Order: sequence, then structure tokens, then C-alpha cells
Amino acid sequence: MKTSSRAFLLSHSRQLGLLGLAALLAACSSTPLPPWPSAPGAPASTTPTTAAPPKARPGVVVAPPLGTPARPPAAAPSPLPTTPEGVTITPVGAAQPSAANLPFGAAVAARFPDPTVRYHTPGLAEGRSSYTSNAELAQWLRDLQTPPGAAGTHLALQEIGQAQSGTPLLGLIATRAPGADPASLQASGRPTVLLIGQQHGDEPAGSEALLAMARELAPGGLLEPLLEQINVILVPRANPDGAEASQRNTTNGVDLNRDHLLLTTPEAQALAQLVRNYRPLAVLDAHEYTVGGRFLQKFHALPRYDALLQYATTPNVPEFITKAAREWYYQPMADALHGQGLSSDWYYTTSTDLQDMRLSMGGIRPDTGRNVNGLKNTVSMLVETRGIGIGRAHLQRRVHTQVTALASALRSTAERAKSLEQVRSFVARDVSAQACRGQVVIDAAPTRSERELLMIDPQTGADRSLRLPWDSALQLQATKSRPRPCGYWLSADAGSAVQRLRLLGLQVLQVAENGSVLAETFTATTTESAAREDVRGQVEGSDAIVRVEVAPHRAAIDVPAGSYYVPLGQPWANLAVAALEPDTQSSYFANHLLPSLTDSARIMAPPALVFEED
Ligand SMILES: [Zn+2]
Repeated sequence: MKTSSRAFLLSHSRQLGLLGLAALLAACSSTPLPPWPSAPGAPASTTPTTAAPPKARPGVVVAPPLGTPARPPAAAPSPLPTTPEGVTITPVGAAQPSAANLPFGAAVAARFPDPTVRYHTPGLAEGRSSYTSNAELAQWLRDLQTPPGAAGTHLALQEIGQAQSGTPLLGLIATRAPGADPASLQASGRPTVLLIGQQHGDEPAGSEALLAMARELAPGGLLEPLLEQINVILVPRANPDGAEASQRNTTNGVDLNRDHLLLTTPEAQALAQLVRNYRPLAVLDAHEYTVGGRFLQKFHALPRYDALLQYATTPNVPEFITKAAREWYYQPMADALHGQGLSSDWYYTTSTDLQDMRLSMGGIRPDTGRNVNGLKNTVSMLVETRGIGIGRAHLQRRVHTQVTALASALRSTAERAKSLEQVRSFVARDVSAQACRGQVVIDAAPTRSERELLMIDPQTGADRSLRLPWDSALQLQATKSRPRPCGYWLSADAGSAVQRLRLLGLQVLQVAENGSVLAETFTATTTESAAREDVRGQVEGSDAIVRVEVAPHRAAIDVPAGSYYVPLGQPWANLAVAALEPDTQSSYFANHLLPSLTDSARIMAPPALVFEED
């Protein structure tokens, strides 16, 4: 494609809309984009900030997640559901915390009856007061392994890394490919979906749900037929140390789900390596959200939704990735939940500052798994169930919610495997082709608005509608942009940054001979030490950051042999932008991975340099 036509397309893409862009691109690119089928009943573009949770569409058959008869609860549900044939229901109580420990009473509890399907994992066994232990989890996964060389469905257990305690981080690969290594999965021609549970140790439902799903992906399982179209990798417990200690963070106090760009923890490094090697097309991240706590203190009301859902919302995520996430994953997921009598809304949270009444749709910085995987051009989604602070209350329902949502994502990928591969291939070429051109967003802010939100009255259990300030992450406002460089130069002292960038899956070249390039160097205009913050408040376990304002200065610079070059002509280039523009709180400079501002520069023209063999 010629530069001029491409520039034309880019400059007109906003006016034409994505459908028009898709049609135009299909006409002039070698791998045409698929026609974008709009979901019936779902407009291509809606105003999400006030969107109610989607309703199931009439005529849409919503398959039950694990083959059990779908029985939405009756209008006035009893906490004890009627028992379908063959399903054992244990009365709640034995393994539940006493009502006194819950931030709500019977009227609220009655709104969340157990589902009509019951899940069986070690941690969900009758009479248990603890969740599946790390040893039980490992045994469960070992028992599911298939013998090597067996034909058909193949389940392989891999140690993808180790937690800080030395506890293995386990991944289970379910595939019909003959081997479970990245090349075998790639050769299968089937896209891979990665499911991650329990990055936060005190959010157990995702982990228990993934154990249940692992069993259904095994030969004869209810999800196994999906392996005809997709490969699935499950990491049921990304933070085993946190799980063992019933704490959110890893052993050294770091919030694992803010560490996916910096990769300071072995847990985050293991997940990054897995994504780099297997290149999943979709990544699903299972969490739980706080039910009482600061919500009750601030709003005197309780969150009401079974699931809160969100895709990647950070600057520079390709528009087609966002569109695929919204139309092909978010919408069907909400429908699937609704079909099971489960409610959902957009993900939101609120800060720990009790005076701050704003709700925020979650972080927009490139540090969470959700956002970093979006910059890796994957459909990256967060699924949160209402679980923190309520012990084992409603645990079967929380697990059912996770299974329903995650199974929906597997189906979405299976049904659209070919289209998704085409989108990914287009986006890879498109991101690469943007090097040296146009603008790149360095920092952005959510759109401040208000919305009507349904919550639950803690005494009566009735719905309460609150109108609250709402920071929408779906519409980002760029607060700082710069011309997109051709790449970044890094000094020979930037070894530890280079190692992290390579773990993220970026190509980093080493300069073989002294040379000279046209660059923008950074000079600090202000420097201060600051706390690293997310929408909740200070990020736990993070050191103070160096907050700088910089003035880029254009000049030819000498580039010595042994220094590095990160070209932006690569599919995951936007990760390099996130890491290497120094004046953001997520950057490698701000977080001390680059010793000084003179260790990096923006390269503004294609460099004529000689590189070492890659
Ligand atoms: Zn979480």
C-alpha cells in the first residue's frame, strides 16, 4: 500500500467510521479484513457510560456453560434452589461464615441464590472452610494430564515459573495438537485462549472456576468439543503465595496485577513469558470485587452485579482490538450471563479515600494484565465476581458466574477463530506500519461523567438507584501526545530494561558498530518523587516513582556499539511506547529500570545502523 493512500485512510478513518475503514482496507491490503458483522440488536457504537447491562436478545440461544439445564431463578428466589435431577445441592450454612460476618443480611443474601448446577473442586467440597490448597490444585491438574503421544485431546501440565516462595506456577494446556509446545499449537492453525485466575490471592472464585473448566476440557468433558477450533491454556492460580496467605498481593507485597509492564515479580515474568511464547489471541483475567467495605461506607449501599466486565482501556490499543472485544466478547458474555439468571455491568471501582465519591471504570494505565495484553493486540478481558469480603458466601454462584463468562469467551473465539486471526494479522501490520508516522498518545485521562448505577440496600435488599460521578475508561482523552518515533535508542547501561522488554515479547536489537542517528533526547524540566497510584489509591508494594516533565530536544546523537535499538516497526510497538516515554508513572525511567534520562532517546528517522545478529 502506498503511503499516501494510507495517510488518507488514517486521516479519514474517524469520519468514515470503522465499518468504512474496514471496507476500504479490505480493498487495498493483501490480507483483507473480514466483513464486520454487527451483532443483531447491538449497535456498532453506543455510549457506554450510561449503558445498562445488556439484555439477552430474543431468539438467541444461550447455551448453559457446562451442559446442565439452564434454569434462571424464579422471580422471588429462595436461597435454596430447587434441585434438578442428578444434581446435589447442599444447604448453605455448613461452610458459610456466620451471618454476623457478612456486610449484609438475609434479604440481600436471598437475591443471590445458589445456581442450579453445582461445581466440585477440592475447595468447593461440602463442609470445607478453606479453598483448594496449592497442593490440591497441583494434584487436580496432574490428574487431568493425558499420557504423552495419545491421539485426540491432549492436556499437558507445565511449570511456567515459580512464585516467590518457590511454589510452582502451573499452566495446563488443552489442545488437539500433537504437542503442547508453542510451535505445535501454532502449527495447529487454531488460535489460543489464555485463562488466568487468582492474580489476587484473596479472590478465589476464578481459581476454583478454572479447575472446574479444566476438567470439562479433558476428554469427554462438556467443553472439550471447543478444542476442535481453539487451544486453551489455563493458569488457575497466578499468585499461589497470596492464595495461601489469603492476601491480595504477592509475598513481597507487590500487587501482581500492576506489574505486567515492569515485570518486577517472578509471577508477572512467568505470565509475560507464557504470552510471548504462545501468542494467545484472547486473554481472560478472573478476579473478584469488594462487596462491602468502602462501597458500604461511601454509598451506604452494596454492589449488586454478579459480574463486572471490562476490556483493555489504555491509550494506543488498536481500534479493531477494542471493537472485537466489545462486539465479539463483551456482548455475548453479558448475554450468556443473563441467560443463566446472572447480572452484569461494566467494571467499576472506587478509591480508598472515603471522601471521594467518584466511581472509576478501572485503570487506564499500561500496568494491569488487562491493559498490557491489549497492547499485545490480544482481546483482553477482565471478569470480576462479587466476592471480596464475604468469605464463602454465594461461592457456587460466584464460580458459576466465572465459568459462564469464561466459557462464553472460549465460544466467542471458537466461533470467530478465522475472523479474529484476520483482525490480528491486520492489526500487526497496521501497528508496525505506523512507525515514524503520525502521533502517539503518551498519557490520557478518563472521561468524567455521571451515571445512574443500581446498587442494593443493605437492609431491605431492594435495588437502589444512585446517580454518581463516573470516570469512563471507554472514552479516553489524550492529555499528552508526541510524534511517533521510528524507535527508541537505549544505552549499553539499560540491560535490565532490555531484559524486561524482551520478556514482554519486544524485539530489541544491539548495535554492532558505532553510528549516528537523528534523535530526540530528553531533558527534565521538573523532577519530583511521587507515589505510584491507580484508581484505588497508592499501588501497593511499589517504590516511589520519579515524576518528570521533559522537553524533547532534536539532535544527531552518537550511538556506540553495545547500545540498543527498539524499532517501532513491530506488532507490539505500543508496549515500547508505554515503557520508554519517560514522563508517565508506568515508565521504565519513572520506576528506576532506566538509570537516567540520558539512557534513552526517541529515534526520529529510520536509523542506518549495523546490528548484532538478533
Ligand atoms: Zn483482583
